[in-house]
Amino acid sequence: MEKLNALKGFKDLLPGESEKWEWVASAVRKTFHAFGFSPIRTPILERTRLFTRSIGETTDIVEKEMYTFEDWDGKPVTLRPEGTASVVRAFLEHRHQILALPAKFYYQGPMFRHERPQAGRLRQFHQVGAEIIGEIDPEQDVELLSLLSYFFQRIGISDLTLEINSLGCTVCRPPYRAALQGYFGAQLDTLCEDCNRRFHQNPLRILDCKKESCKAITTDAPASANHLCQECDAHFKAVQEGLSSLKLPFVISKHLVRGLDYYTKTAFEMTTQNLGAQNAVAAGGRYDGLVEALGGASTPAIGFAMGMERLMQLLPESDIRYSALQLFIVPLGEAAHQHVFPVLYDLRRKNIRSEIGKSGAALKKQMKQADRLNAAFVLIVGEQEMEMGKAVLRNMKTKEQVEIELFNLLEGVIAQISP
Ligand SMILES: [Zn+2]
Ligand SMILES: [Zn+2]
Repeated sequence: MEKLNALKGFKDLLPGESEKWEWVASAVRKTFHAFGFSPIRTPILERTRLFTRSIGETTDIVEKEMYTFEDWDGKPVTLRPEGTASVVRAFLEHRHQILALPAKFYYQGPMFRHERPQAGRLRQFHQVGAEIIGEIDPEQDVELLSLLSYFFQRIGISDLTLEINSLGCTVCRPPYRAALQGYFGAQLDTLCEDCNRRFHQNPLRILDCKKESCKAITTDAPASANHLCQECDAHFKAVQEGLSSLKLPFVISKHLVRGLDYYTKTAFEMTTQNLGAQNAVAAGGRYDGLVEALGGASTPAIGFAMGMERLMQLLPESDIRYSALQLFIVPLGEAAHQHVFPVLYDLRRKNIRSEIGKSGAALKKQMKQADRLNAAFVLIVGEQEMEMGKAVLRNMKTKEQVEIELFNLLEGVIAQISP
């Protein structure tokens, strides 16, 4: 019989890895909550038109990568390839219920794109994103960027670079496009086929081309930040001043672009040197034109999305913060077992993930079990320890050991192992 394995590009998340995902998800909830964002859960399936309108008919996502099929009524539906369109759709649909602007949402969940499953590219991948809808003030850009910076700091990922740029607006974009066409026009023979198409449709996207021959030409192309209108220029300066006031480091990346027309003003990426060529961990920007493009009143907005799979690659594989088990209790002999078994229940009620070994099993065998379960700490209670009224707590990573009084076992253990 044919084996019923998962589809190509789709992946099971198993224990050992799934705890790490849950730990990050919990850090997302705590951090985004503190920054004033509320969770939003939108359906995974939407009308195809939502994405063709928001992402653009001529993008790779819409042309080649969407999971689109006919619903039972014959109308085309699509598994969401990204999160922003659905959030904006929900914002518009429930606009009358949303009293306070700006509306601040965050989401985490699966997205679907039919990509060639090369290294690290899944067809069901996961994103965390945040959107601020209804405010043009550059302070919102700074708030969003401070959230992003702090989040990575909180989960312990350092050596990231915040790159920012400004893409201008409907006033200053056309002259910038013209400047780009002026620059690239003389070098069309050297640009790749895709870039020749982009030259007419959207020359900004040439700046994003991954082909080495195009990249070489791009280096000296005009920068959007030098073509900003007065309003966009003031906005960009205010964002930089705001970041500096929070002591958040950033660099201006003069050719950082977003491929879609509704992106305006601030664009940004969080990049790392530790993932090879695919170096953006998070990306976003201001999209003041999207709400209107989806049929709403002109409404400014800004947001970002980060890829969970890439983020996971940057975290250590096993870590005490999300290792499978916090404490493994090793009782040696029946008396020891009877003494510590109620403590196991108490620990669990204190949210400390704990297991206990078999009382009849030898020390070596129980320690092996603790290792298999990836226990952060082991509590050893043997006959000798019982007599002395003490148990031994061992940190499995540092191999350090401390003695804990038996009469105060629960408090003693918690004081040692709670981070
Ligand atoms: Zn402008
Ligand atoms: Zn190219």
